[in-house]
This record gives sequence, structure tokens and C-alpha cells, in this order.
Amino acid sequence: MAKTAFITGITGQDGAYLSELLLARGYRVVGLARRPVQAGESGGRLAELGILGDVSFVEGDVMDAGSLIRILREVRPDEVYNLAAQSFVRSSWQQPFLTGTITGLGVVGILEALRSEAPNARFYQASSSEMFGKASGVALSESSPFHPQSPYAVAKLFGHWTTINYRESYGMHASSGILFNHESPLRGVEFVTRKVTSTVARIKLGEATELRLGNVDARRDWGHARDFVRAMWLMTQQETAGDYVIATGRATSVRDMAAIAFAAAGLTMEDHLVIDPALFRPAEAPVLVGDPGRARDGLGWEPTVPLEALIAEMVEADLRRLTSRR
Ligand code: NDP
Ligand code: GDP
Repeated sequence: MAKTAFITGITGQDGAYLSELLLARGYRVVGLARRPVQAGESGGRLAELGILGDVSFVEGDVMDAGSLIRILREVRPDEVYNLAAQSFVRSSWQQPFLTGTITGLGVVGILEALRSEAPNARFYQASSSEMFGKASGVALSESSPFHPQSPYAVAKLFGHWTTINYRESYGMHASSGILFNHESPLRGVEFVTRKVTSTVARIKLGEATELRLGNVDARRDWGHARDFVRAMWLMTQQETAGDYVIATGRATSVRDMAAIAFAAAGLTMEDHLVIDPALFRPAEAPVLVGDPGRARDGLGWEPTVPLEALIAEMVEADLRRLTSRR
């Protein structure tokens, strides 16, 4: 019998790629959606992958703990992937309470519903490298100290420890993936890689002249979302649940990443880049780079897409979208 996977955050970047992977492996995929999912709107990413009609949806919100119990009773999942979050770090200073409720407390709601309705289901929590925050500089592993530097990171850390606590308190198969930044043509335009590639495409087609960025000296470890969702699935397939850093192990500055994007479009960054102090954050980690050793040894996971290829794919997709809209 086909396994059933339940995904919160199915309309996001990772939800779309994870659905694609699970469908290819024969799963029935059910997603939690806050509103009706349609191709031109929140279903856009699933539609772009050509799988919108292959998944089903239940209406709900991770903040509505009561309805999660009913939903899990109906869906009877074998695996649950909690990807739902207010996921944009910068917005978390503007909406700290909302971020804490969705990104942090939402995890308790799902785990409580799971404990009551499907205690044997396997659970994946989308933790984040942002939890390390200030404790940066060296390649970070599962045993590195946490020092979150935004309301988002604080909320993610709450979700992370909650996942570990449910595993240790109730013996649930609950794993946490500490994922470093992962990008794709389906990344939201508020995140820096997609902001860069979509703006580069507009500059190339004469629709814009400048790219405004904040802290271009920040260094991040960027991988491809398609590689990273494979790691999520591998975690739920293990006999024993655990926590894994998922990263490429290579740090690149925002400035160098942007230069790659401009070069991919045959443009020169210096002609267009403007540093805007308003885009700097109240606090942030200068360097976040991960050590994926445990994932490599324990899950057999390796990243397959280098940054240059990832950024080139994103620039190409943005150029194609803009050209076809004309
Ligand atoms: P996105 O921002 O693309 O997707 C977030 C998803 O969460 C959307 O489907 C959104 O639905 C849903 N959502 C938001 N609030 C609620 C709510 N109250 N109830 C139900 N659903 C809600 O994120 P990504 O796909 O990039 O990331 C997936 C997860 O991984 C997130 O938890 C993120 O924080 C985490 N993560 C991501 C990293 C990355 O580099 N991408 C790195 C580390 C962790 P809607 O369409 O309705 O807005
Ligand atoms: P995050 O790591 O989850 O916050 O992912 P982002 O893509 O939003 O940010 C990655 C890094 O890019 C952070 O260090 C930001 O400070 C930096 N950055 C510099 N300029 C910008 C910008 O204009 N937008 C965004 N989103 N990030 C920027």
C-alpha cells in the first residue's frame, strides 16, 4: 500500500520539491494549506513543477492546534514534514509574536496532534542554521552551540528543542534537519539569491538599472533545494530518528554570489550594485557555514549542485519567466 505523507508548508519552495520527490516514490501526498490552492496563486510552485493536480490539500493553519488533531485523524499519515513557518528573517523583527507563534509554537501543535492521532508516524522538523547565529566562523555541526540572533532563529530553536523533547519524552520518531540556506528558481523573491537573480534578469531585459542590497559581506552556505529535500526524506527513512546538519560546507559572500549572477547574464556587477543601509538587519551572523559530515556518513547524503550552477539555473529561469510574460 502507498505510504501517505502530510506536509505543512506545501505551497513553499521546499514543499513543492519535497512533494515532487515523494510523488516520484509513489507516496500519496496531502498538504496543509491556509487557503484554496490555485495555479496562479499559492499553487504556483507546485504548478511550475507540473504536480499541482497530483497532491491533495486540507484547509488549516498550524496556529489552529484543535483542527490539526481532526486533520491528522482524517489523513492518517505515515510521515509528517513540518515545513510551515514565517520564514523570512527580516520580517521576524517586524512581526516577532506572529513568527514565534507560527514558527515556534506551531511545532507543539503538530507534535501534540501527532502524539494523539498518529504516534507511530515519522516526523521531520525544518530547523535552521540561523539557530547558530553568533556562534559562527568555523564549520558548524550538530554539536556546535546555538546563539540565535533574530526572532525567527529564536522561534526555530524552540521548535528544534521541542522536536528533541518529544523524541526523548515519548519515543516518537522525530528528526530535525538543521538546514543551511537552500535556493532554487522557486525561492521567494524576498530572499537574497532570488532577489539578485530576478533583478539581474530585469536589468538584462532593460526593465531595471540597479540592484539594491544590504550587507554584502555576509557569507552563507548555499545549496540547491532539490538536494536538501532529499535529506529530509532520508531522515524519515532511518531506523532511528536524529538531528542532522545539511549544508554544502562552502561559504560565499553575498557580493560574490551576486557577481556570479551578473556574470551568468553577461553583465558587470559594479555597473549596477547599490548598497542600501536600510536593508541591513539589527543583528546577524557574519558567516554561516556547515559541516555535513554526519549526514554524509549516516544518511549517505551529498550535495550535487555547486553554487555557480544553482545561480545560473535561477538567472535562466527568471529570464525565461520575464520573456514569456512579454
Ligand atoms: P517558504 O517561505 O517558501 O514556505 C513557507 C510555507 O509555510 C508556505 O507554504 C506557507 O504557506 C506556509 N505557512 C506559513 N504560515 C503558515 C501557517 N500559519 N499555517 C500553515 N502554513 C503556513 O519556506 P521554504 O520552503 O524556503 O522553507 C521551508 C521550511 O524550512 C521553513 O520552515 C523554513 O523556515 C525552513 N528553512 C528554510 C531554509 C531555506 O534556506 N529555504 C533554511 C533553513 C530552514 P502560504 O503559501 O499560505 O504562505
Ligand atoms: P536568511 O539567511 O534566511 O536570512 O536568507 P536571506 O536570503 O534573506 O539573507 C541571506 C543574507 O543576505 C543575510 O546575511 C542578509 O543580511 C544578506 N542580504 C544582503 N542584502 C540583502 C537583501 O537585500 N535582501 C535579503 N533578503 N538579504 C540580504
